[in-house]
Amino acid sequence: MLLPEKIFNAGVVGAGGAGFPAHIKAQSKVEFVLANGAECEPLIHKDHELMLNFPKEICRGFELLIESTKAKKGRFGIKEKNTKAISAVSRHLNGKSELTKLGDFYPSGDEFELVYEATGRLIPPAGIPLDIGCVVNNVETLYNISLAEKEIPITKKFICVAGAVKKPSSFFVPVGTSFKDVVEFAGGPKVSEFGIFVGGVMMGHLTFDLNEVITKTTAGLIILPKDHYLIKRKNQPEQNWHRIGKSACDQCSYCTEFCPRYLLGYQVEPHKVMRSLGFTKTGAAVWNEMAELCCSCGLCTLYACPEDLYPKEACDKAKVEMHETGIKFIQQKDVKVHPIKEGRRVPLPQLIMKLKLQDYDVEAPFNSENFSVKKVRIPLQQHIGKPAKAIVKKNEVVEEGQMIGKVSDGELGANIHVSISGKVKEVTAEIISIES
Ligand code: SF4
Ligand code: SF4
Repeated sequence: MLLPEKIFNAGVVGAGGAGFPAHIKAQSKVEFVLANGAECEPLIHKDHELMLNFPKEICRGFELLIESTKAKKGRFGIKEKNTKAISAVSRHLNGKSELTKLGDFYPSGDEFELVYEATGRLIPPAGIPLDIGCVVNNVETLYNISLAEKEIPITKKFICVAGAVKKPSSFFVPVGTSFKDVVEFAGGPKVSEFGIFVGGVMMGHLTFDLNEVITKTTAGLIILPKDHYLIKRKNQPEQNWHRIGKSACDQCSYCTEFCPRYLLGYQVEPHKVMRSLGFTKTGAAVWNEMAELCCSCGLCTLYACPEDLYPKEACDKAKVEMHETGIKFIQQKDVKVHPIKEGRRVPLPQLIMKLKLQDYDVEAPFNSENFSVKKVRIPLQQHIGKPAKAIVKKNEVVEEGQMIGKVSDGELGANIHVSISGKVKEVTAEIISIES
């Protein structure tokens, strides 16, 4: 069996956030394969821990992908400050691969940034790395590809739990485990009232629901007291974000001046998007276009804006409106890196200070204890594309690793496997519940 087929069967998706089915990338032919170990979300250290503890498996996945795509070169993006991870990974890299050492900036893990740092190439506006002969995979995806080679399906997610918990740590969790069980495994919360940033404080979403579950793309959970600055900011009703923005934005343009996509040469100008908040629908459409190439990194809202406004959220809204009206902005001018880019990069420690997270900025070491759980709720859509279709029925007995959700022939998606042995308790179009 060829590698793309093994990856497809094992249900591997991009573990770095978006959940793009990994077999598609393995089928392509490219010049560069890039490993993304540039983790930059404040407080999340799971990729660092994975590189320290499983460098051989990650590099095996990297090598397999280089072979499968017939790439001439491999570039392993990793932060220069992570010296132990660098020496662990270096021991397993083959002749075609080199390290690309990165500074400790936010968002150095953004695909557009990484591709530019590693190859000097700029992805075309609204394009993908493949357009310039590259594929990028997060280090955990590469680890999972090494499992897929051995025909081991993806049933566990490596996550980091940090913030106001007694034991900040990184560990493997069965997919479908509730946040409640996960937070308990990290020693439990340090405070009685808290919120959870799922996937990180910059790009993740805020929830107070402990019944939500870990999926194949959950990078980690950041627990913060309910009265923390970030929870108060994020927990404002959406209409407030835009109402305050309409009245208080003084068009200083700091949001644009710090925007990493703007500094790379893309026409992303959040200060112009802010103008759309005060316009009628026709007027807004003009300014909305300046949001099309935004990657939702959150830097404008949480770092740049001196008025604590919400330019990132204005960009998110603009993208939805453009999508609904069928408008697609195509940048006409050449992408040219801004001469001040290097000087405007945002050091991670500075961002952590601005976010008032210094008290939580600690390591999250790997906990190798077995995480056992009695109940999981496994979503059938954990990836980009169509949801998988359930292939088990209520009351059926299932074994860990068994396929329970299947992608229909010819559709973009990923297969789903059960993460614990037990009995099927519920099957809907969205979720399968299992109890051991
Ligand atoms: S930084 Fe804030 S105040 Fe300045 S233009 Fe952007 S949104 Fe408006
Ligand atoms: S969220 Fe803000 S800073 Fe980040 S890419 Fe979008 S506009 Fe730029």
